[in-house]
Amino acid sequence: MFGKMKNSLDKGVAAVSVKSGVFVETSKIKTYIANLQDEIVTLKKELADETYQMWINSTFDEDGLDRLCREIYSKEEEIANQERKIEEIINQSKQILGEKEKINKCSCGLINAPTANFCIECGKKIQ
Ligand SMILES: [Zn+2]
Repeated sequence: MFGKMKNSLDKGVAAVSVKSGVFVETSKIKTYIANLQDEIVTLKKELADETYQMWINSTFDEDGLDRLCREIYSKEEEIANQERKIEEIINQSKQILGEKEKINKCSCGLINAPTANFCIECGKKIQ
């Protein structure tokens, strides 16, 4: 009896910890992405300043522009990578939670159809 209760409790706790784990992980990544976006804004300002200075001085520093553009581009790529990471984490957690939901096990031990709300063996509501 307690063993069975503990099983269903563990399942509930596992689902909660999966969800909070996803929240913590994606929040971290989102903060990182926000920092990268700030850095891009700063670099773009620098790029604009440098371009304007070139115009003022009638010079053309291609290497300087190239360096800034590459830096911006690599940060944008990094953002795309991090966004894919978030998607992966969410998809993985959905799979884990989905698999748990498919096992529609009653406290009496019978595994019911995934859509069943009540056990066909004992009639108890399936949690
Ligand atoms: Zn049952």
